[in-house]
Amino acid sequence: MRILFASSEVAPFSKTGGLGDVAFALPAALAERGHEMVVLSPLYGCVERERHRLEPMGISLPEGRIWAAPREAGLLFAFLEAPAFDRPGIYGEGGDYPDNAARFGTFSKSLFPAARALNFFPDILHLNDWQTAPATLFSEGVPTVLTIHNLGYQGLFPMAEAPILFGREEIPEAWTHYDQLAFLKGGIATADLVTTVSPTYAEEIRQTELGFGLGDVLRARGERLVGILNGIDTRVWDPATDPHLAENFTRAERRGKRACKRALQEEMALPVDEEAFLVGMVTRIAGQKGFDLLLAVLGELLEREIQLVVLGSGDPAMEAALRAFRDRHPERLALRFAFDEALAHRIYAGCDAFLMPSSYEPCGLAQLYALRYGALPIVRSTGGLRDTVRDGETGFSFEAYRPEALREAIFRALACFGDREGWEAMVDRGMGEDFSWSRSAAAYEQAYAALLPSPAVAPAPPSW
Ligand code: ADP
Repeated sequence: MRILFASSEVAPFSKTGGLGDVAFALPAALAERGHEMVVLSPLYGCVERERHRLEPMGISLPEGRIWAAPREAGLLFAFLEAPAFDRPGIYGEGGDYPDNAARFGTFSKSLFPAARALNFFPDILHLNDWQTAPATLFSEGVPTVLTIHNLGYQGLFPMAEAPILFGREEIPEAWTHYDQLAFLKGGIATADLVTTVSPTYAEEIRQTELGFGLGDVLRARGERLVGILNGIDTRVWDPATDPHLAENFTRAERRGKRACKRALQEEMALPVDEEAFLVGMVTRIAGQKGFDLLLAVLGELLEREIQLVVLGSGDPAMEAALRAFRDRHPERLALRFAFDEALAHRIYAGCDAFLMPSSYEPCGLAQLYALRYGALPIVRSTGGLRDTVRDGETGFSFEAYRPEALREAIFRALACFGDREGWEAMVDRGMGEDFSWSRSAAAYEQAYAALLPSPAVAPAPPSW
């Protein structure tokens, strides 16, 4: 099949979170299965063109040129240039850019003209999140798949922005939500198939408040809404070969992990202590990620033999609250407010445990990287965290979104860490889990195939 895959971020070119990783790894896995993939994304000012060897393709749209990364078999990463994308941020700097409706509305409209210019005629158009959801309006009869990576971000804008999508025509109700223009909602109502990134999240958004006001629209899609678990790119995320680590290690030979722990403690200016229980977080600092729970129990945690390393950026008030704890316990809490891909790898590799007390989590990739790097996840049992972490076997999970429940899970992990044999047996099991893309890519493939017109029945052979 020929698949046009559109995403507002694609790692390593641009990334704010899990969507970027998926938009690289899923198309790569599908290309490996023999499909022809073109991935289209905006060319932001922050994309490092030289480092990634991007070149203009000699093709222009009205907004600007089309650039591309070196082509691989069956896989092209192409980038649309436009003045509105030529800024340091992806979605904003500090807050959202005020013209995001125009930026991504226009991008959604440009997908087919760009594909045509590339001489690529897709069988399937695969869209991701609100930023490309409006492309269902411009799909030229090609079946569309929309993947929801996070229903918490819906692309709601003032109605005055509607002409970007509808010109002077009337706005169909599907594209409005309480008098706002609703990018994601419109896509959910009109895509041929809606997927989300874990089976549990697919149920939660239908059945609970995690539908964020779109429960009816989601339920109305019936069997046309399915959950397919995300995978991870096991070549990029492999402790045996990862170039960012102090020492490499494998499931069978984990001595290198001890060196990674020491190196991380040094890098983050924590006391180098093999016995300390080193817990990591690599995350957007946002309400969704459970910082209110963490802040409620942090004082108590830092009284114990726990070291916590947090790499993240986001909400300034939460960052300030974390800083206040760090100033009281600099030997226990280390903070880095930045987006730092290399340090992220070193945290997964160096930590004993990895914390994700999310209020909700569509899939979560961080816990999957942690498992592969031998850091046992401590997670709230929600969405993809529920689908990927086995309590007491590959990690520790808690149900209620309450500080006591988080505290109990962390102390349970700490007690378990004291029993080295039991702990190492869990690490071994965790590192043995397979979350590579192979299974999920096959599931997408089947989902695409079901949308294609069935091949014409072969005509009966002539009877003479
Ligand atoms: P979400 O998509 O909700 O942010 P995921 O767990 O699915 O959460 O994906 C997060 C991805 O972003 C992971 O690859 C994680 O390593 C990365 N990440 C998050 N924050 C940072 C940061 N500050 N620096 C580097 N990588 C980060």
